[in-house]
Amino acid sequence: MKILAVSDQAVERIYALASNGHFNDIDLILGCGDLPYTYLEYLTTVLKKPLMYVPGNHDPAYGNDSRSRAEGGENLDVRIIRRRGILFAGLGGSVRYHPDGVNQYTQMEMHMRAMKLLPALLLNKVRYGRSLDILITHSPPFGIHDDDTQAHQGLRALNWLIKIAKPRYHFHGHTHFYKNNLEQCETVFGQTTVMNIYPYKTIEMKNE
Ligand SMILES: [Zn+2]
Repeated sequence: MKILAVSDQAVERIYALASNGHFNDIDLILGCGDLPYTYLEYLTTVLKKPLMYVPGNHDPAYGNDSRSRAEGGENLDVRIIRRRGILFAGLGGSVRYHPDGVNQYTQMEMHMRAMKLLPALLLNKVRYGRSLDILITHSPPFGIHDDDTQAHQGLRALNWLIKIAKPRYHFHGHTHFYKNNLEQCETVFGQTTVMNIYPYKTIEMKNE
């Protein structure tokens, strides 16, 4: 399975690449947040592939009107679903850094959200012999690809979730690279490869 993951910035050249057939071998599109929903809708429409996404801290609160969801996509926030035999989970939002911020959570609130995934993770383990294959979030885990500023501090709940669920991949966004891409964007944490998707990446996922 080949995945196109996108995050945080609508990249102009992706429109040309998509319409020129550059992503024709993509099976699935994953959005890691802070993107205009029109961008996600464009990708799923042009590539004719399923889209799953989580909201970022700059996205509107989830709702049913057209401005607060990506048409044709599935919001994976606090959900676990199985597609093409692959187990996906999502957790949107970032750490709280503004009292009125949308899709922002304290470390404790995010723990509570992550814990809601536990029953489905356990069920997956019983049914499929593993809890999770791919975790998509907006924020990075604590201490991995994050930084010291309040808005970009990683979420401790994700370190916990990765340890419990042991996904093969964790894709996230939220933290951009300011130092000419010298910063690391891929880190192995336990059995999981943590990847910063900003602004987009293609990932070939081999069957085990
Ligand atoms: Zn963000």
